[in-house]
Formats: sequence, C-alpha cells, structure tokens
Amino acid sequence: MSFQIAIDGPAGAGKSTVAKEVARRLNYVYVDTGAMYRAMGLYLASKGADGGPEEAVEAVCGGADIRLTCEDAGQKVWLNGEDVTESIRTEKAGMLASSTSAFSAVRKKLTQLQKELARTQDVVMDGRDIGTSVLPDAPLKIYLTASVATRARRRFLELEEKGQAADLNEIEEDIRRRDEQDITRKLSPLRQAEDAVMVDSSQMTAEEVVERILELKKEREA
Ligand code: C5P
Repeated sequence: MSFQIAIDGPAGAGKSTVAKEVARRLNYVYVDTGAMYRAMGLYLASKGADGGPEEAVEAVCGGADIRLTCEDAGQKVWLNGEDVTESIRTEKAGMLASSTSAFSAVRKKLTQLQKELARTQDVVMDGRDIGTSVLPDAPLKIYLTASVATRARRRFLELEEKGQAADLNEIEEDIRRRDEQDITRKLSPLRQAEDAVMVDSSQMTAEEVVERILELKKEREA
C-alpha cells in the first residue's frame, strides 16, 4: 500500500518548497500538480484555445503529453517532449494555469494522471484540490496557508534572488486575483478538506513547517 501526503493551499504559501523537502526526507516522489496545470495552460495558449469554449479545450487538450521527471538537478517538466521547466514559472503562465484550470476537460485529464502517479508509489502531492478531489483517501492532508502580505513578500524576494525585476504591489494584486479565481471556480475550487490539518506558515520558517508535517505523519502511523 502506498502512502500519500496531500498538501493544498493558495498561491505562494510555500507548498512546493515544503513538499519537496518532505519528499526528500521520506524518500517519496514529489508531484507538483501546479506545474502540470501551468504546462497545460501554455499548451492551450499555443493552440489558441486558452479562452475556451469548453468544446474547443476538450478537442485540443488530449494532444498535451505532460510528464514530470526527477533529475539530480531537481524536477523537470516536459510538454510533448520539450523541457518547459523554466518557461512555466512566469507570472503569465501562473495566470494562464489559473484560468484554464477551470475547464472540466483540463481537470479531468490532469486528475486522472495524478491519481495514476499516486497509485503505485509513495507521494507528496501539492496543489489546490489534492485532499478534496484527487486523493480523497490520503492518510495525511495539510492545508498550508499564509497571509496575502507574507505570500507576496516571499514571492518578491524569490524573484529578486533570481535577478528578476518585480513590483511588490503588482505581485500582491496577482496573488489576490489568483486566490479569487481558484476559490470561486465551480469545479474543484480551492478549499480545506474536512480532515485536513491547517498550517498557517505566516510566522513559521519552511523548516518548521517541514518538521510539523513529519511529526503529523508519525502520529498518523502510530
Ligand atoms: O501551484 P501553482 O501556483 O503552480 O498553480 C498554478 C495554478 O494551477 C493555480 O493557480 C490553480 O489555478 C491551478 N491548479 C489547480 N489545481 C491544482 C494545482 C494547480 O487548479 N491541483
């Protein structure tokens, strides 16, 4: 039987940093579902179908072959054989992922793929609907959140570190818009699963969050 840790929460709460580290320490596979939605967003845009309608998205999205691989340098994201690891990380790709993730054909295809990845191996999977929809029976579910101001500041520092120009107010506005889209969409909106443990990382370091999750995992297994 495989063990699954589901980590959901809004944009910029630190899910991927924490999920990656928890997976590394447990020797589990890390599955970044946001990366899959980002790759799908880019694909739909390249086909001119990112604005819908649903039938057009359904007709096109079957052509996207999205894979995640684990390399020494970290996780790589592939779209039809092309390495899109870097190009999916822009704010534009994030917004595109957020708007196109509301199409049912997109959710159906990616949810299936994610369920399959978790069927045969131990995973730490992060996203928006992992505990509520993709892995409803996961033995450990975390809802990781932080204030909008904290999330915007972290994102700002991350971009600054990469040498990319950024505007804190703009980032904060993007985060608010993305939250709004993710929370209010009809299909699998972002929400805390009833049996998920809420962790607010506003006053916590990434290491503290990792330790809390590992502690909870031990408790679940006891
Ligand atoms: O996590 P990340 O910011 O990379 O996700 C990009 C977008 O993909 C989110 O804003 C959300 O709209 C969508 N997404 C989703 N379901 C997931 C993961 C991401 O709808 N499980």
